[in-house]
Amino acid sequence: MGRKGDKMNFEKLLDFVNLEDKRLRNLYGNYPDEEKRILARMVKLTEEVGELSEEVLSHLKLQRKEKIQSNKNELSNEFADVIITTLLLAKSLRVDIKEALNDKIKIINERY
Ligand SMILES: [Mg+2]
Repeated sequence: MGRKGDKMNFEKLLDFVNLEDKRLRNLYGNYPDEEKRILARMVKLTEEVGELSEEVLSHLKLQRKEKIQSNKNELSNEFADVIITTLLLAKSLRVDIKEALNDKIKIINERY
């Protein structure tokens, strides 16, 4: 992952999330139960949504001048952070995200 022009697909993303989950478990240790990890990941997702919000505000030049540092790369990075963090949280909660997305896409498509 990472090289410009590399193809991204959902399986590859989920493989990365599984690997990252293992690496994070090694880094932060195994909690006696999953509750702490789930709560930490929920807080982390909120943090990443905040960072994305900041980039969107910068992109739209809706921040104070001294705060604006619009950078297309940073905007893209923050979208990626939100998606990866969301998938890590779903994994901790044993949510089958592929099934969840398939079901939701079906529901949305049926609206039209
Ligand atoms: Mg971030």
